[in-house]
Amino acid sequence: MSTISGSRTLHRLIYASRNTIPAIDLNEEIGAIIRASIRRNREVAIGGLLLVHQGHFLQVLEGPAEAVLTTYGRICDDPRHTDTKVLGAGPAAKRAFAEWNMCARRITPADDAILDTLSMRTAFEPNRLTAGSALRLLQAVRGIQDRTQLSAMR
Ligand code: FAD
Repeated sequence: MSTISGSRTLHRLIYASRNTIPAIDLNEEIGAIIRASIRRNREVAIGGLLLVHQGHFLQVLEGPAEAVLTTYGRICDDPRHTDTKVLGAGPAAKRAFAEWNMCARRITPADDAILDTLSMRTAFEPNRLTAGSALRLLQAVRGIQDRTQLSAMR
């Protein structure tokens, strides 16, 4: 992890992990995680996106360095996932994710182009991504989500 030059420095952390939530509890637990995340992340000005797909989590957190690292420490202690791996962490020039967001649990067939791009259509293994690829994937997912929300409003 790179040096933190101050607690208010904008920091971005991307990690991948394996979901340990029993399938039967998945919807309920993901809902609980999102509710807790929205509440707590807002309090400390953290934005980002959590992708839940094929038994894996991929999340980006952006905000003041101290808040991001404290939040990530709490997330790592959570027994609802395991094998957390930081793909990238360090100062960021500006936010790529202004708000807390959450992707749909499943990537739909319309989103296959994203997985194709990353050559992961058959097996989604976010822990093998570079920080740059992970960020591009999360931004693409956010873009799809934004477009979906816009078309739902029409
Ligand atoms: P408490 O609710 O008091 O939790 C105490 C402990 O129990 C914590 O270790 C907590 O992880 C664990 N816990 C809570 N609920 C359950 C449960 N249903 N089953 C098993 N253990 C449980 N939090 C954020 O603030 N921001 C995020 O961006 C964020 N992203 C997350 C992403 C993932 C993939 C996961 C799994 C969790 C995420 N969380 C996030 C939740 C985070 O791990 C904490 O549960 C949450 O922040 C509340 O922590 P707490 O100690 O205040 O809560």
